Amino acid sequence: MKKLIGIDLGGTTVKFAILTEEGEVQQKWSIETDIQDAGKNIVPNIIESINHRLSLYGLSADDFLGIGMGSPGTVDSEKGTVIGAFNLNWTTLQPVKELIEAGTGIPFCIDNDANVAALGERWKGAGENGADVVFVTLGTGVGGGIIADGNLIHGKVGAGGEIGHIIVDTEGYQCTCGNKGCLETVASATGVVRLARDFSEKFSGESELKWLIDDGQEVTAKTVFDHAKRGDKLALIVLDKFYYYLGLACGNIGNILNPETIVIGGGVSAAGEMLLTGVEEYFHKFAFPTVRTSTKLKLALLGNDAGVIGAASLVKQSSKN
Ligand SMILES: [Zn+2]
Repeated sequence: MKKLIGIDLGGTTVKFAILTEEGEVQQKWSIETDIQDAGKNIVPNIIESINHRLSLYGLSADDFLGIGMGSPGTVDSEKGTVIGAFNLNWTTLQPVKELIEAGTGIPFCIDNDANVAALGERWKGAGENGADVVFVTLGTGVGGGIIADGNLIHGKVGAGGEIGHIIVDTEGYQCTCGNKGCLETVASATGVVRLARDFSEKFSGESELKWLIDDGQEVTAKTVFDHAKRGDKLALIVLDKFYYYLGLACGNIGNILNPETIVIGGGVSAAGEMLLTGVEEYFHKFAFPTVRTSTKLKLALLGNDAGVIGAASLVKQSSKN
């Protein structure tokens, strides 16, 4: 049986894993991402790290079916190139596939990081290898990936599955994309804090969360969730609005795609069952009746491993075609 390599390329670390064809992680390691000099060391460092590890484990290129990678920026998965990955300082076109195949002698495939994480959760996580799975990730931004009929949705130019830019309030906050009221403006880690600050201004009751905000203390999404767990009135109001927006977006996703599962992951989802229950209430309100009873909301299971596992699964997808 041949093995797979999965790579999750991020702005601070590059994560690697060696997996079996069934998706079982056998080895994991990581290196720092060197974004100096327009990120020109990133790919050479990846090649060196792979070759070093393979010799360490007594493996050779022939032992591998392929390498899959998730990358930030605009990824051309056919040509194997990346451009506009600003957290890597990659502003010009990077021929990643060409370089890594030449440097390792192993076939290489690539997709964007959100899509790859979606594939990971679909294959080995909450998606239970279903054919129709949507992944929504709530982190510093809101991202996502859509798998419909077993295929990742890329759209015409790779902008398919931009779940963070589903508009949930036409009169809402300004988004970095130029529009107003995108899901990302209210459901990301900063979005939750933005809601908390806004509601705090209008709130006149007893609330420790309000006191922290008024006192200028650092308030994060976790602060809001922790206070809601203790029954803080302002925190509960803020989260109700957050659940409404996320439930509205999930309802609409469900109404278009009727996936088996909408998986919610990312740092904000650490709030767990409380978040899931809150979002479900609004999802049930906005989902079409048959969608309501057939599409399930679930919390992501893989955490940080979703990237490397999903990246490895790209190899299996491409070797099928
Ligand atoms: Zn937007």
